[in-house]
Amino acid sequence: MRKLEQLYEGKAKKVFRTDEEKIYFVEYKDDATAFDGKKKGTIDDKGVVNNRVSAKMFNILKEKGIENHFVELIDDRKMLVKAVEIVQVEVIIRNIATGSMVRRYGVEDGILLDPTVIEYSYKSDEYGDPLMNSYHIKAMNLATDEELAVMKEVAFKVNDILKETFAKLDLTLVDFKIEFGRYDGRIILADEISPDTCRLWDKKTNERMDKDRFRHDLGNVKATYQEILKRVESL
Ligand code: 5GP
Repeated sequence: MRKLEQLYEGKAKKVFRTDEEKIYFVEYKDDATAFDGKKKGTIDDKGVVNNRVSAKMFNILKEKGIENHFVELIDDRKMLVKAVEIVQVEVIIRNIATGSMVRRYGVEDGILLDPTVIEYSYKSDEYGDPLMNSYHIKAMNLATDEELAVMKEVAFKVNDILKETFAKLDLTLVDFKIEFGRYDGRIILADEISPDTCRLWDKKTNERMDKDRFRHDLGNVKATYQEILKRVESL
């Protein structure tokens, strides 16, 4: 498959058209941003880690019946994906309170959330990904009720599968963000599943093993991403 012109460049990935209409080429970058782009940097080989971790997670999810955009790994930084139209809503699942949930509501950091919390935010760099509810989503024509129902159901299923998968690797899945796309009239899981988009805490040491190391200058950023890749590839 031939890589054609670039369609889009985001903060962490580039998307290219291919000579097959329904397939895109995604290239993962080492660029890292945080706090709505106010903090910028690079994490050496982050693109490799996120590409390979995402591929593995998408394969596991597919085996468990979660349709997603992953087609195949091309090399260390590139994968082929189905050419979806991304829904401009980020879906966040929280098992444990931390991050913006603590900042926003003052709940205690690290407490188990019962029930598991689902949030939606508007995928907009310009407006800083603001939280939204199902009424905003419908009124702004971002997704229909039917599409949102699918997104919600899939998000909780993804949580169950990822929690179990990461637990085998001695990692607690604290929270994560996923995105969906439209493909052949269906809503399928898209984007990436990586230490950029999931908070993962080491079960033994409670160490932060994700992008929070970059966000909060905790050190050992590159080594931590490599450790996640090593654990994921041991599956
Ligand atoms: P928080 O809202 O606490 O900052 O993030 C909740 C979870 O969603 C974290 O796992 C975080 O990595 C992920 N998340 C939320 N928004 C974004 C985003 O715009 N980009 C990335 N990479 N992850 C996000």
